[in-house]
Amino acid sequence: MPPEELPEEGLVVVSACLAGLATTHDGKAKPHPKVLELLRQGRAVLVCPEQLGGLPTPRAEAEIEPGGSGAEVLSGEARVLDSQGNEVTAQYLRGAREALRAARLSGAGAAILKARSPSCGSGLIYDGEFTGTLVEGEGVTAALLLKEGLQIMSEEDLK
Ligand code: SF4
Repeated sequence: MPPEELPEEGLVVVSACLAGLATTHDGKAKPHPKVLELLRQGRAVLVCPEQLGGLPTPRAEAEIEPGGSGAEVLSGEARVLDSQGNEVTAQYLRGAREALRAARLSGAGAAILKARSPSCGSGLIYDGEFTGTLVEGEGVTAALLLKEGLQIMSEEDLK
């Protein structure tokens, strides 16, 4: 994805891990200075789709199965599986719907979502083999927010 300008005003949905909360699958935070700035300005709407979908923290890492991306998960053509082989598609879909609800309730028109996550990734995600290989595509939440007309960027897209 090309570098994007951060909207100059209005609320922005942000991945909670980018805002400093320890929400990642291994219980870590991934704070980003520009997201923290938005938070301090009162413009950040924090969501962690995997937690909103009912998954615990820490949790097993998960990937969208090979050949699929967020769009295919939304259309029922791909599943999300964790590294133990458990299907977590329903939790990912629920989390995506809740993130969309947060966007709608707040009126946010843009989202800054953590790169490469099976929920939040935009442009590139892991290929479903748990080997660290990237493929083109969106995570489940990013795909839903994109489909619903939000401007999506990752922390790496920010200028
Ligand atoms: Fe961060 Fe999104 Fe993963 Fe939650 S689901 S830890 S917000 S990347």
